[in-house]
Amino acid sequence: MADYRQRRSPRIAVRVPIRIFGKDSKGINFFLDSSTVVVNRHGARVRLSEDLDPVGDIFILCQATDEGERFRIVTPNAPSPPHKNLKGVECQNPEKNIWGIEFPEVTAEDLQFVQVRLECPQCASLVNAMISESEVEVALADGGFQRECSVCGFSGLWNEKPYLPS
Ligand SMILES: [Zn+2]
Repeated sequence: MADYRQRRSPRIAVRVPIRIFGKDSKGINFFLDSSTVVVNRHGARVRLSEDLDPVGDIFILCQATDEGERFRIVTPNAPSPPHKNLKGVECQNPEKNIWGIEFPEVTAEDLQFVQVRLECPQCASLVNAMISESEVEVALADGGFQRECSVCGFSGLWNEKPYLPS
């Protein structure tokens, strides 16, 4: 377990298209096209329909890489609305990174925050920012990240861009 923890990677806010396969509470196989909200090397926060309550592991196919693996649902308590459909999942094969994303080395700070790349809608300045996971969920609900631009002075909702390490 200690070894596994050392190999944790930072979480990155990125929307990766995925297909989820599993069994629902009635034992019926389902698949669902969905996407991630946050990923790290071994896990993710993914969108799942609120009325789906999968039993056992799910299989996630990353549509960007065509790589798949078994994941365990690790969301400890049923999260409250409006994020009830977001589930934490952990890859059952710690050697595998299905996302096709290079993750930087982890630091203690990285474990508490999510890295996002944001664009000012007025002057197109790009910044990499570290924010908490709950702020990511707020931003999803708001449709952008509340921020003030140090270049043009714009204050309002910034757009999320695909994450690139700076
Ligand atoms: Zn700006």
